[in-house]
Amino acid sequence: MQVKLLDLQAQYAGTMRDEIRAAIDGVCDTQALILGPATAAFERNLAAYCGVKHAVGVTSGTDALLLSLMVLDVGPGDEVICPTFTFFATAGCVSRLGAKPVFVDVEPGTFNLDPTQLGAAVTARTKAIIPVHLFGQMARMEEVNEIAAAHGVAVIEDAAQAIGAKRFGRPACSMGRLGCLSFYPTKNLGAFGDAGAVCTDDDALADRLRLLREHGMRPRYHYREVGGMFRIAALQAAVLDVKLRYLDGWHAARRRNAALYDELLAGTGVVVPTIEPGNESVHNQYVVRIPAALADRDAVRQRLADAGVGSEVYYPFPLHTQPCFADLGYRTGDFPRAERACGEVLALPIYPELPQEQLRYAADQLRRAVAP
Ligand SMILES: *Cc1c(COP(=O)(O)O)cnc(C)c1O
Repeated sequence: MQVKLLDLQAQYAGTMRDEIRAAIDGVCDTQALILGPATAAFERNLAAYCGVKHAVGVTSGTDALLLSLMVLDVGPGDEVICPTFTFFATAGCVSRLGAKPVFVDVEPGTFNLDPTQLGAAVTARTKAIIPVHLFGQMARMEEVNEIAAAHGVAVIEDAAQAIGAKRFGRPACSMGRLGCLSFYPTKNLGAFGDAGAVCTDDDALADRLRLLREHGMRPRYHYREVGGMFRIAALQAAVLDVKLRYLDGWHAARRRNAALYDELLAGTGVVVPTIEPGNESVHNQYVVRIPAALADRDAVRQRLADAGVGSEVYYPFPLHTQPCFADLGYRTGDFPRAERACGEVLALPIYPELPQEQLRYAADQLRRAVAP
């Protein structure tokens, strides 16, 4: 049996195909290709979905982070705290603006930033903290916000993997000053290419996001400040607006799949994801831990591949030991929990349309792969 890690064709099949093609046709017929009504409608619906006043569509999740840092005036001499166990963009955007990423370790259960490490990481130069809601589950935002408020620094949620996730009922992107979303095709809400968005309740920040996503131009051909070209494509907004209506159903299917894995993997020694009390995960990834004492993760992954089961390692290396950050002076051993996670994590197929018999087969193959 072949089990794909992700099958986007399964989502596109059926009535979805017709609805999306009609939406694309709508944009093609009007030729309103830049911003326009399709983008405005999507931004409105997205803001409502995330429980915020403003959603600003941009070119990618990476640019959502970059633009968020830009509207906070992050630049040379500033420090921005983020976890070392995350996708590269979280820290890369900080460096691109001439600021310094300051890494902290993660919690062993959720793989999210450990708020108890923030106190020691904050300095007079700290401008922002970027908690990442990894794999679909929110970080401990109230603790992050408390420390940020005490030191007068802003919080940017990296919610690229967590659209629709909730913490004590509050949606991702509604708890920080700014919240960043990615619509990369593997995310729970995926575009037909690259796209992203920034959410905020702050009117002034929203206005500046809109200004800087179009080169700081206002009015036409007058440049108030130097921005960039970060507009979401209207075609992507049209596709995303259709898919947004199905998102909660997809989250529910992912949750059902996660629960089934939890049950099937019980007693195998494989550590299933920890969902913290108060958290509603949207399970962008179902990431288990293969403890080194149980089996070699890479060998297990190979055995799954031999059995036709797709899996992936998010992430094989932490950020603090990446060559591009060598000048920051971190060393292996600085963040032991993240380093250990890199050697033990394995993402299994969890996409909403995954047939149950395939999920059962994947779990069974994993059980065999780790059996003594
Ligand atoms: C996907 C992702 C991003 C970047 O999004 P892109 O749209 O691919 O640029 C940023 N942070 C995290 C945690 C991500 O998973």
